[in-house]
Amino acid sequence: MAVQRILTIDNAADLAILKQVSKPVEGVDDAVRTLMDDMLDTMYDAPGIGLAAVQIGELKRVIVMDLGDKPGVEETEEEDAEARRNPRHFVNPEILWSSDEMFTYEEGCLSIPEYFDKVERPARVRIRYLNYQGETIEEEAEGLYAVCIQHEMDHLNGVLFIDHLSRLKRERAAAKCKKVARERMAA
Ligand code: ZN
Repeated sequence: MAVQRILTIDNAADLAILKQVSKPVEGVDDAVRTLMDDMLDTMYDAPGIGLAAVQIGELKRVIVMDLGDKPGVEETEEEDAEARRNPRHFVNPEILWSSDEMFTYEEGCLSIPEYFDKVERPARVRIRYLNYQGETIEEEAEGLYAVCIQHEMDHLNGVLFIDHLSRLKRERAAAKCKKVARERMAA
């Protein structure tokens, strides 16, 4: 269990790292599994539903996600969110196909605290990646899963969700993030 610091865009050094393109990893070894364990701990602690390695300063093509959609567990079991946990791991993910049909969702990002805005993306994508065991998985994602994997894969290419918005909205997001950082510092 190792919660790491999440890079945020109000910090110029952090932003410079978040803008970089991450490199593929050689394969899924114990070091990569430890990285994914740390990323999940960090994500649950935040809390968030997805995290790319670059967000904790590791320029590797590795993503973790948990949409709280564990099969067979009812969403009404309010008292135990942990029972619904369904961690997903993605190493060297690729998008093989995107639908022409689009889907709009209000996105947020742990690197841009407390700013949310609507982003339009393909509604469905076909992806290929290595899982925690190092097996190659190919599957189609839709709904929130499709939104999240595209958002996280953008991170691997140095792209933030606000980069899909107008310049005015990007500036508003940056200002909001700076304000949040100041408030957290003062608290
Ligand atoms: Zn993000």
